[in-house]
Formats: sequence, structure tokens, C-alpha cells
Amino acid sequence: MKLIGYIKSICVGIWRLMQGMYISMLNFVRPKVTEQYPENRGEHVYFERFRALLTMPHDADNHHKCTACGICMNSCPNGTITVLSKMEESPETGKPKKVLDRHLYDLGSCTFCNLCVQSCPFGAIEFTNQFEHSVFTKERLVLQLNRPGSSLKPKPAAVAAPVDKQAGQRAAAQETVNTPKTV
Ligand code: SF4
Ligand code: SF4
Repeated sequence: MKLIGYIKSICVGIWRLMQGMYISMLNFVRPKVTEQYPENRGEHVYFERFRALLTMPHDADNHHKCTACGICMNSCPNGTITVLSKMEESPETGKPKKVLDRHLYDLGSCTFCNLCVQSCPFGAIEFTNQFEHSVFTKERLVLQLNRPGSSLKPKPAAVAAPVDKQAGQRAAAQETVNTPKTV
């Protein structure tokens, strides 16, 4: 009986080995999916929601949407963002107004959680999929997101309220009603 069990275990072992070899050979002839990076940098397709770098978009006039409110800084769980503001005279009102001085982002400590983007009430920051960040010192991972010389995008001019032509007539009629008649 012992001999039969011994032979049986050898057969099972050979069968398992053949199964393993079959899987290996199958993968050997399958098309390869290894990314040939960086050779394929030009045609590489990134996932749409892949987060790699926080950025602050600027328009053609070097305007951004950041009001220096600091909500993103307060929302960040690990102090990755520092918003520095300064006071400037508002061209619209002539009064001092808080504006963005520097929006600093420490890429080295970012966990790419996206809380800052979600909390910004003005849509001033967003993630891009630019993932190549190699630098020689960690200090160079601290990035200023607002461009030098950029400023807050001015508000569009207020749309003039439509003129109510009948308002004057109604006011005159009301005045006539309220004025006591003289005898
Ligand atoms: S993605 Fe998260 S960790 Fe990175 S800056 Fe935004 S809130 Fe902070
Ligand atoms: S990026 Fe948005 S949340 Fe952060 S300071 Fe600027 S306006 Fe405020």
C-alpha cells in the first residue's frame, strides 16, 4: 500500500508541474504589455483621472482665479500648500484688497488626495497628469503655482439693469394718489 501511495504522489506532482509549465508557456507566447518608457513618451496614454501634479491654470492675459482665500491650505491634511497674500489697491474701488502673493505647493509631501481641488470655491487649481518630477534636491519640489507677474482675473463688467419705462409712470400715479387735494 505504501508503494502505491508513493507512486500516486509522484504522478500528482508531475501533473501539477505540467500545469505550471502550461501557464508559463501560455504567457510566453502572449503579446507583451510592458510599457517601453521613456521611448513611448509621445504616444503614451494616461488615465483621465490620474493625478500627478497640482497646477494653477492661467489664461492668455496671465490671469488666474485664485483669491488667496486660503481654503485649500486649510483643507490640506499635511500642510503641503502655503498661501501667501499681500495687500494691494483695488483698481475698481481704490481701496486696499488682499491678493495672492505666492501659492506654494510642496510636491514632496503631497498625497494626491485632491481635497484642495475639491475645496477651492473658485476652481483656481487642478491636477494634471504630468508625472516626471525628478530633481536632485527635495527643495526643488516646492513649486510656486502662480506665475510671476500674474494677477486675479478681473470680474466681468456688471450687466446694466434693463430700463423699466413704466416705472416712472407708476411712481407719478402713486404720487397723485398720495397727494391730498387742495380745495
Ligand atoms: S492633493 Fe491632498 S495632500 Fe496634495 S496638496 Fe491637495 S490636499 Fe494637500
Ligand atoms: S487656490 Fe482656491 S482655495 Fe486656494 S487660496 Fe486660491 S482661491 Fe482659495
